[in-house]
Amino acid sequence: MSLIVQKYGGTSVGSPERIKEVAKRVKRWRDKGNDVVVVVSAMSGETNRLIDLINEINAAGASREKDVILSTGEQVTIGLLSLALESIDCPARSYTGTQACIRTDSAYSKARINAIDESKMRADLEAGNVLVVAGFQGVDAKGNITTLGRGGSDTTAVALAVALKADECQIYTDVDGVYTTDPRVVANASHIAKMGLEEMLEMASQGSKVLQIRAVEFAYKYDMPIRVLSSFDEGDEGKSTLVTREEDVMEEVLVRGVAFNRDEAQLTIEGVPDQPGVAYKILGAIADVNIEVDMIVQNVSSDGFTDFTFTVHRNDYDQAKKALCELGEEMGANTCRGDDKIAKISIVGGGMRSHAGVASTMFKALSDEGINIRMISTSEIKVSVVIDEKYLELAVRTLHEAFGLDKI
Ligand code: ADP
Ligand code: ASP
Ligand code: MG
Repeated sequence: MSLIVQKYGGTSVGSPERIKEVAKRVKRWRDKGNDVVVVVSAMSGETNRLIDLINEINAAGASREKDVILSTGEQVTIGLLSLALESIDCPARSYTGTQACIRTDSAYSKARINAIDESKMRADLEAGNVLVVAGFQGVDAKGNITTLGRGGSDTTAVALAVALKADECQIYTDVDGVYTTDPRVVANASHIAKMGLEEMLEMASQGSKVLQIRAVEFAYKYDMPIRVLSSFDEGDEGKSTLVTREEDVMEEVLVRGVAFNRDEAQLTIEGVPDQPGVAYKILGAIADVNIEVDMIVQNVSSDGFTDFTFTVHRNDYDQAKKALCELGEEMGANTCRGDDKIAKISIVGGGMRSHAGVASTMFKALSDEGINIRMISTSEIKVSVVIDEKYLELAVRTLHEAFGLDKI
């Protein structure tokens, strides 16, 4: 007998009909002799609706209360799915994050899971129930409700799979696996049957939202394979992507995929004294207002002054710009400016470790299309560039073709 953890995302449970379809699928897996734990997201659009409500009432309000509101979407789905399972004679019990003892830190809206006490759930499973657990939420040491960041139900599923020592963690979504890039942007993106967790981690970090970054981090750390598959496919053993340890993936490809991210904004400060401690001073001012910085470029100076450019999440743009420009005035900088219409595009692949020339192919392909590169950053298995947002789709298609990803 196997223990399977399945997660169904927002579109998969987006209507009463979809929830009934999910119930039938869960029952089929159980009837095959598996123990099944199901993690669900809020019905599609619900989390956004709750965010809009919050913003109408008090956008700058207490994060604790926001998480109380945001966690309700998932609570509705666990109840509905449990009722749907009951109606087809499949015994099921719903669990909120608190009831599932998913303990997190107190970083509201981006909490991290510290531990899961799975004893209650195990007893319920042994009694023959399917467990239906609310994704995206947990409880801190003081009993406050927390949420895990957008897309966080993926992380709930992987963390439960690890805690319960599941045989497989299945992420059911609206695409039948991971593709070489978002199939909604490039229609001829290629399906990937098997890939490494490290590559997936890099794809997720660079913006492929098919899996939440922390879910992949968890899977990587605890060696839990993830299978991505579609809840819209008829059969149960259809097309899927297995994301697993690198050594289980036979061929190492040069470029695995193209990831992109429209959620960033760029900030620049020019003409600051080029002396020890300047980077610390500038980035320290941003860290002091709790904002994370992604890419950083500092120019080489010739006249004792230097320029500094970096990117932050677009939601943090106004606050970061204010902090930077205040500091700029203090330091006597020439200019302080920003642009929130940028996008980051990355090529990712394990094979880059041992091959030179990948970056230049990328830069040539972009330049042939007249796309200007504003920033560049590289690591062992990825190259990222920042470009104008208006060229993003063209850039994704261009790079996808330049690396022959449509012909896999
Ligand atoms: P869910 O609601 O099930 O969590 P998400 O919307 O979070 O679903 O993730 C699935 C979506 O991820 C797909 O619809 C697709 O548009 C997008 N996506 C982005 N990059 C990729 C990729 N490389 N492969 C597959 N899907 C991708
Ligand atoms: N409902 C949450 C969101 O929309 C969590 C999730 O779907 O994974 O981000
Ligand atoms: Mg998701």
